[in-house]
Amino acid sequence: MHLLDPRPLLPPGLAVDQVEVRSDRVIIFAHAPQAFCCCPACGEPSNRLHSRYERQLLDLPSHGRIVELRLQVRRLRCLAAKCPRRTFAEPLPVEVARRSGRRTTRLDGLTQHLGVALGGRPGAGLARRLMLPVGKDTLLRLVRRQTPAGAGKVRALGIDEWAWRRRQRYGTILCDLEQRRIVDLLPDRDQVTVKTWLRAHPEIGVVARDRSGGFASAVNEAAPSAVQVADRWHLMENASAAFLDAVRSVLGPIRRALSNGTINPDLLSAAERLQYEGYLRRKEANDAIRALAAAGTPIKEIVRRTGRSRKLVRATLRNREDEVFRSRTSSLDPWLIRLEAMWEAGCRNAAELWRNLRDEGFGGCLRIVTEWATRRRRSEQPDGGAAGQVPPARTIARTMLANRDRLARAEAVMVATIEAAVPALAAGRVLVERFHRMVRARIPDALPTWITDASDSLVASFGRGIADDQAAVRAALTEPWSNGATEGSITKLKLVRRQMYGRGKLDLLRARLVAPA
Ligand SMILES: [Zn+2]
Repeated sequence: MHLLDPRPLLPPGLAVDQVEVRSDRVIIFAHAPQAFCCCPACGEPSNRLHSRYERQLLDLPSHGRIVELRLQVRRLRCLAAKCPRRTFAEPLPVEVARRSGRRTTRLDGLTQHLGVALGGRPGAGLARRLMLPVGKDTLLRLVRRQTPAGAGKVRALGIDEWAWRRRQRYGTILCDLEQRRIVDLLPDRDQVTVKTWLRAHPEIGVVARDRSGGFASAVNEAAPSAVQVADRWHLMENASAAFLDAVRSVLGPIRRALSNGTINPDLLSAAERLQYEGYLRRKEANDAIRALAAAGTPIKEIVRRTGRSRKLVRATLRNREDEVFRSRTSSLDPWLIRLEAMWEAGCRNAAELWRNLRDEGFGGCLRIVTEWATRRRRSEQPDGGAAGQVPPARTIARTMLANRDRLARAEAVMVATIEAAVPALAAGRVLVERFHRMVRARIPDALPTWITDASDSLVASFGRGIADDQAAVRAALTEPWSNGATEGSITKLKLVRRQMYGRGKLDLLRARLVAPA
């Protein structure tokens, strides 16, 4: 079978004797052609044959077949009289295979790449498809064998913790912020570990970190000359979290204000005020209609006295609550009477209501009817659902910090009500917004005033934390560095660990994640 000269296809340093192509594999018989080999113990060259044996090596696959090398290896006698070794096996060049390895160096190299890129099980799956005859364990062993790249010189370092196991065990991740690559992973977040690493890198000039944890003091001790930069994203988050705490601390007054339900018109925007005034006019008219009805006045007579349409009078008498802000006219409006009748007849299932309406020609979607049914159900509750209308603290905090122009009317009313009832929270909101703006627009000069203003507020404890870490916070507003790259790396690390079903050990994670310098 010599259609093709196989010599250039083999690793250098081997001579081909024969090639055998089988259905599932190609077997290449070969030998190392040099006559003399040096004894590994004494270095004396020898060509005196003792025996021969066959060594099998797996090589890169070819044409959809596994490639197997069968090497005739000589065992030679050592010619030096005093050498403790009497015989030795002819060594193979390292480009061919490692000592006593079962695969060629180039197959190991490719397999290692696969393991680093994909991890054990997925890597082994792909290897099988590629006809690389290696299993999961071999793959992982090869990845471990790869020596992690040295950290190199790091000028700007990002440092953060990552969870081996949430709330139980944490490691430390170190990133080169200039090159945006992971430079090392540490097994824990211990001060001693971090300090040891930092001391080995005196070249570090900038360290970006979040404010929590012991990283600040570790950097203070082990890299005192480095400029510390608080991470901007964390600063923003910390401020929002501080506001949530503030909301929680005054939840009682907020609940009272919201369930009271009074609206101070001064707090509404112009458009909302127009709506509110319209509501008051409607309410006045509606109250008059209801009073007449309560006194036994027939509908026809009510229509005559109030000048309202018969339809409106009927609708008013049907609804117990008046909505402050009228929802925009809905495709449901012409069907309300029909809907109401079905509801009163006992049909409380939104889907069934919708099917009935649709059969009668209603073209709207199910959601509209579902929402109506929810409102209708709520209006039947004894307290009108007032207690349930106070949203959770997180929602209140988020709504209060949101862009005012984007709030729905009901949200704007809620915010206005809360801020009127709890002015301290309104002040806290302003402080947090000022802080956000300061970080976003990078205005370091605003920091001292902000710290002073915050000291006597609902976010005072957050303010004290900022004051204690003032240098790093100021650096966050002046330095270009931020820990974004580190955050991204943590995401990558999580992904890799998930591929390993969370079982990846540190050496494996290092091998897969720490990029060469
Ligand atoms: Zn020897």
